[in-house]
Amino acid sequence: MLQSKLFYKANRNKSADADSVSHDLLVRAGYVDQLMAGVYSFMPLGFRVLKNIENIIRKNMELIDGQELLLPSLHPKENWQKTGRWDTLDILFKLKGAGDKEYALGSTHEEIIAPLAKKVIFSYRDLPLSVFQIQTKFRNELRAKSGILRTREFIMKDMYSFFTNQDDFDIYYEKAAKSYEKIFKECGIGKVTYRTLASGGTFSKYSDEFQAITDAGEDLIYICTKCSLAINKEIKEETPVCTKCKNDQFEEKKAVEVGNIFKLGTKFSTPFDLKFTDRDAVDKPVLMGCYGIGLGRLLGTIVETNYDDKGIIWPKSVAPFQVHLIQIENTPNVKKAAQKLYTDLQKENIEVLYDDRQTKMAGEKFAESDLIGIPVRLVVSERTLKENSVEVKERAKEKARLVKIKDTIKALK
Ligand SMILES: [Zn+2]
Repeated sequence: MLQSKLFYKANRNKSADADSVSHDLLVRAGYVDQLMAGVYSFMPLGFRVLKNIENIIRKNMELIDGQELLLPSLHPKENWQKTGRWDTLDILFKLKGAGDKEYALGSTHEEIIAPLAKKVIFSYRDLPLSVFQIQTKFRNELRAKSGILRTREFIMKDMYSFFTNQDDFDIYYEKAAKSYEKIFKECGIGKVTYRTLASGGTFSKYSDEFQAITDAGEDLIYICTKCSLAINKEIKEETPVCTKCKNDQFEEKKAVEVGNIFKLGTKFSTPFDLKFTDRDAVDKPVLMGCYGIGLGRLLGTIVETNYDDKGIIWPKSVAPFQVHLIQIENTPNVKKAAQKLYTDLQKENIEVLYDDRQTKMAGEKFAESDLIGIPVRLVVSERTLKENSVEVKERAKEKARLVKIKDTIKALK
């Protein structure tokens, strides 16, 4: 991609109204744009990161037999009345359509997937089953803050599992938890993310949250100093000692919830009469589980835990491009060498953003490159060409090195 053509606008000055590091950096580097409080546009740079995160999640959901589908955002009021949540879910977006008919904008999809599953599941032979979607959701938040960490409209991966019995369900639930740990590790926040015990739903003592430690977090978690078990604040009030090792010393940390998993049991299958016929010809309710990850929030959390005073430092796995190629002078020599390198990188399928802009000074290009945070920077200038070389610098490291132009691709791989 040529930077001269890229749809973005970088701003080197810190924005006054940003209330978190990720908000400030993502807006200033041209990844996202705020339309109104809690609603953001993803610019091409931000969209590329979002797609990378999406692909990591999709791959891992498919590995635990999740089938991808797409459910609607616009829901009939009746489905939400059936579970009572039309009146009790305070963040539910409600709207009136033509003829005063009422609708909800989905903040979650149990009310849609349970009646849909009823059309497919009849016998124990139809189970187990897991389906997931990556889709836009809505929350009618009283106040939206912290940039893309807490928004009114957001993209979420939600998976729903269906089982005939508790034992198989419990095994799958643990498998999903492991899959979540893998996803956060692949996204570069594995070291700061804790599976955290949280107050349970109706059908289990605990649910599990995945909490990433960062000062931008709105949650408080307690980490056992002996065994590293993490517990959410509300639980901590119930259990003053660690449930695993009985230690009573905890470290208090601010954290962002990047994912959660719940054992729903029969909470949603009962109101929608979702049953299956067992081997003994008896009808039984299907056991459900749900598993969520907010993609925008995960993107914001990656930034909150991967930056320095110059800008973002993307992990390779989610970076918008792998290489930022910068042409310093506009002399025929430098232009020709940079353009050839650009073509060669593309031929090798290395994703490259090429700063070909002729009106920007070197200092400005470097500052913007650090702000955008692509993992590797390649610089071509009169100085490097004297050595038949290109300057290679990793964003996360201090020092640059010269590499012969002919060896560039090899050095990157
Ligand atoms: Zn412990």
